[in-house]
Amino acid sequence: MLSYGTYLLPGTLKEALEAVATLPPGGRVLAGATDIVPYAREGRGGDVHLPVVVDLSRVAEFKGHQVGPGTVRLNASLVFQDFLEDATLREHLPCMPHCAIWFADDQVREQATLAGNIANASPAADGVPPLLAMNGMVELARLEGREVARRSLRLDDFIQGPGKSALAPGELITAVTVESMRGYGGSFQKVGQRRSLVISKVSAAALVKTDPSGTRFEDVRLAIGGVGPVPVRLTDIEAMLNGQPITRRLVAEAGAIPADRVASRSMVEYRKRVVSGFVAAAIEDALVACGAPMPTDADREEAHV
Ligand SMILES: Cc1cc2nc3c(=O)[nH]c(=O)nc-3n(C[C@H](O)[C@H](O)[C@H](O)COP(=O)(O)OP(=O)(O)OC[C@H]3O[C@@H](n4cnc5c(N)ncnc54)[C@H](O)[C@@H]3O)c2cc1C
Repeated sequence: MLSYGTYLLPGTLKEALEAVATLPPGGRVLAGATDIVPYAREGRGGDVHLPVVVDLSRVAEFKGHQVGPGTVRLNASLVFQDFLEDATLREHLPCMPHCAIWFADDQVREQATLAGNIANASPAADGVPPLLAMNGMVELARLEGREVARRSLRLDDFIQGPGKSALAPGELITAVTVESMRGYGGSFQKVGQRRSLVISKVSAAALVKTDPSGTRFEDVRLAIGGVGPVPVRLTDIEAMLNGQPITRRLVAEAGAIPADRVASRSMVEYRKRVVSGFVAAAIEDALVACGAPMPTDADREEAHV
């Protein structure tokens, strides 16, 4: 059974930071609490008791999102369901609805926050590859004396290894800021033991913008997860595609490359095969989404007549 001693519900960032600064050993910060369920299961042999819980769900500053010039600030309490339902987020972050639709189920998506997803630094966290592809910056806050001090770091610097992040004691994630990807096509591929309600064994996120004619890659963003200690951005493959004519051969060549990035200890051959297919499929789906489907062999023959 999961039990707690004191349950704190701060309403402001400062109150939350004060609570976190004085958290006793074994105390826990919670947002949507969807990770606490598997955690509590570990206590089957002996119940899990949390002396203090700091519940972030009422912190006013953590709610919603803000669109700025070329950026979108996703506040800490934003949940995965928002990426499906919010028209502004769908427009600016075209990869995220594809990520959210395969994330858990309706009930968990309504609770699971983006901040909670990155805080654990899980190699399989589905939110991380799309955020990496959008140059995500993690915003953090802590108390210095009585003042709120803030810092911001790149998501790939924040996530340092499996279960290891740059979050310092007494610190909270306040938001993740990403580039607006308006006008890009987005895609997210994922596989696990089954497709949903499952931890990803391999995932791939793609964002693709073409030139106005729809025949050349203008800007490609790619990232993969589940295949090593941390999700990774595929900048070398992006560079190989940018500015090039869109052809099936080029996409197949690009898709073959990430097999050598698989650094998992288990199911290595399976992951290598899947990740190659996923990167090519993610690019192809993103092209369809931005209205520039890949040319078929028939199109190519016609072009040569
Ligand atoms: C049935 C089920 C299905 C799931 N499916 C998926 C899936 O498909 N893909 C996937 O990636 N995950 C999945 N998960 C895992 C989980 O739902 C996600 O990781 C979720 O995003 C966690 O968010 P949360 O708000 O519930 O975090 P919580 O459980 O509240 O917290 C998780 C961790 O983050 C910390 N934290 C939360 N907010 C902050 C903050 N603002 N600052 C600092 N630390 C913070 C907490 O202290 C805790 O250590 C699933 C979980 C369940 C139970």
